[in-house]
Amino acid sequence: LAKSSGRATYEFFEPSMAANAYADLVLESELAHAIARDEFALYYQPQVDARTGALTGAEALLRWQHPQRGLLSPEAFIMVAERHRLMLPLGEWVMREAARQARIWHETGVAEVPIAVNLSSMQFRLASFARSVATVLEQAGVPGTWLELELTERMLTEDLSGVPETLASLRALGLHISVDDFGTGYTSLSHLTLLPLDKLKIDQSFVAGLPDDEGSVAITRAMLQMAKGLGLRVSAEGVRSSAQWEALALWGCDEVQGEAIGAPMSAAAFEAWLRGRVSTIGA
Ligand code: C2E
Ligand code: MG
Ligand code: MG
Ligand code: MG
Repeated sequence: LAKSSGRATYEFFEPSMAANAYADLVLESELAHAIARDEFALYYQPQVDARTGALTGAEALLRWQHPQRGLLSPEAFIMVAERHRLMLPLGEWVMREAARQARIWHETGVAEVPIAVNLSSMQFRLASFARSVATVLEQAGVPGTWLELELTERMLTEDLSGVPETLASLRALGLHISVDDFGTGYTSLSHLTLLPLDKLKIDQSFVAGLPDDEGSVAITRAMLQMAKGLGLRVSAEGVRSSAQWEALALWGCDEVQGEAIGAPMSAAAFEAWLRGRVSTIGA
């Protein structure tokens, strides 16, 4: 018996799988300590008015300054964090840190714009989520209007029970709600009219084909028209060229975000970037 199960185990665990599982385990235990060790940071990417170029917001993007592996992007660790429920304390850290930064930037007059925070569905599905946001705001001493929340389409396509109530509570606190990566999921279009939303963020995969690819143009313009009809603001992500920016502005896109404007930066670099823009305009 032992022999046959031993063989089965051997067949199942190919060396690469074992290596992955081990890497996962290491990552998990490192993640569990990373908050206490203060290894996380938020980077900020500017969002600007598509017509005037004026700053309209900053998206907070999570980074992990790993002691051996350097600066890690969320793709390298978010899935592991979600699998092991570490996303809950980490998500709360992100919210507190964004609120703290919003307070500094508003009070010093550096950037009086909202900071957009990405949510994981694990966070958003907690019955206590809206209450925990209220607590974070209270403790940081900031009004809800200084933060924005980005949900992905998947959070609006799964079971919707409790979602309208959560969104209504968040909006009552003053937070605006955006749908991130729009166009890549399967949002029932009727949900867009039923749910209290403020903004759609067109996914970068569509923006990448602009301004020449006919399919990308057709889909982008259709999304813009639909959003306008529903009274939603529209932002485009992953804008990498001025040709893309110009096309989006021409078609009525409200905001743009991407390398053509500014990459995600540390808080200090973001402040320097803002000062640089002001002095360029002044020159
Ligand atoms: P997202 O929210 O859709 O964020 C946009 C991603 O596109 C960011 O990647 C950003 O760095 C990247 N990006 C921005 N402009 C350009 C561009 O012009 N060209 C290209 N190629 N890429 C651009 P990042 O920071 O690696 O984040 C990846 C994803 O991780 C985010 O996608 C978001 O879904 C998730 N994420 C980030 N921070 C958090 C967080 O605090 N909590 C949760 N739950 N998820 C987060
Ligand atoms: Mg986002
Ligand atoms: Mg996105
Ligand atoms: Mg994305």
